[in-house]
Amino acid sequence: MHEKPKEYCGLCAVSGGADVLDRVHQGLHTLQHRGQEAAGIMVSFQGGECRLHKASGLVAQVFAAIPGSWPVQDIRRAISHVRYGTAGGSTAMNAQPLMVNIAGHTVGIAHNGTICNAYSLREELLHEGAIFQTSTDTELILHLMARASKSCNGDLWKALEEALRRLKGAFSLLVMIDDLFAAARDPFGFRPLAIGDFDDGGYMVASETIAFAVTGASYVREVEPGELVIWGAGNRMVSRQFAPCVRRAHCIFEHVYFARPGSRVFEDSVYEVRKEMGRVLARECPVDADIIVPVPDSGMYAALGFAEESGIPIDMALSRNHYVGRTFIDPGVNSSRQKLVSRKLQPIAEALQGKRVCLVDDSIVRGSTSRTRVHTIREAGAREVHMRISCPPHKFGCYFGIDFPEREALLANKVPAGDLCRSLRLDSLGYLTKEGMLSCVKARGPEDYCCACFDGNYPVMPDQLDRRL
Ligand code: SF4
Repeated sequence: MHEKPKEYCGLCAVSGGADVLDRVHQGLHTLQHRGQEAAGIMVSFQGGECRLHKASGLVAQVFAAIPGSWPVQDIRRAISHVRYGTAGGSTAMNAQPLMVNIAGHTVGIAHNGTICNAYSLREELLHEGAIFQTSTDTELILHLMARASKSCNGDLWKALEEALRRLKGAFSLLVMIDDLFAAARDPFGFRPLAIGDFDDGGYMVASETIAFAVTGASYVREVEPGELVIWGAGNRMVSRQFAPCVRRAHCIFEHVYFARPGSRVFEDSVYEVRKEMGRVLARECPVDADIIVPVPDSGMYAALGFAEESGIPIDMALSRNHYVGRTFIDPGVNSSRQKLVSRKLQPIAEALQGKRVCLVDDSIVRGSTSRTRVHTIREAGAREVHMRISCPPHKFGCYFGIDFPEREALLANKVPAGDLCRSLRLDSLGYLTKEGMLSCVKARGPEDYCCACFDGNYPVMPDQLDRRL
């Protein structure tokens, strides 16, 4: 993707087994692509004592020296989080997990997603006298739990269920209460959350299964939509359904762009889905070109599928500088972002000169960096430049955790469909259809996916006060 929406969050937890801290640290590191702004780990020890370490920065920076005062061998469970704020702004105070005291118990929470009645709930809680320490959606859950704990006679697990039933939107959660641990997922299952286990009796819960691969955990299953799974005494897994799942609405954009190709999300391999998207795209929008050029890294697997299906050779004619940090800056600072994007990808003239080039990328958001890239590829000597995109045009915002720019800034809304190709100064442009995109997922049906940023059909609408797109 050229103009990346803000990444959101990644979750990883370990319950029981050996090397809890090392496993959670390694697992979290594999999820760095889901958030680069801040990282945190909260651990619990036998007897219920909990400690927390979090800060702004990458996982490797934040945990360069794991807190020396922690008796690492006594850690029983850990929850962790990487963040790039989609709600609540980009300040260190919003780093997660959050850790508070509720009715004498230590409660920790880490959250991926966006609660789309957050504004209304916050207003209600403020009116009742609540004091917020952060501006994240996540803190709301703790306040709702604290209030519900009275009516639940101090049973904080019941209070958590009550709190979750009040939320609208997307939430995959890790929760620690003293030395017990739980994972929960909203009733639509917008964001992925999977359970793995280790041979020594330990469990891991993570946003993506790539975290299992590096730590030696085996995939068990997903946390189901509307399910709360608690690891209690003896590290036994207990499942509760806190709300019914009326329909699934998994985020198709996880397969298009966000998740790592080495992961399984929503029971499908991201690698296979993404490559299949390229194959279907080649059938739907064939091109007469000499070389297929992936836009690294996100267009890589779709380009492989496209080249395989079309029989056109693939060539790595864009060289990526891996030492340039995030290419996403403030959405308003377009020129700065473009400078970074230009530094990140350089065209290789020897591969492009005199060629008819077909770029394959996963999506176009604003269009400005695509335009710049096409220009530089022509300058490097390409005779023709075509572009194929492995999802439909983005026309709508997302209320469920992906921070696209406002609708007016999306290229597909700014420029009439017939003028898109000319606007990007391309020789031809083709997008994958929605039907083609959904034909690539196999484990679940097309009706189990959210495609709202493409078709405007939101599985759940935010409260009026929360409609900010
Ligand atoms: S609107 Fe788009 S990005 Fe948001 S959850 Fe739905 S498919 Fe994913």
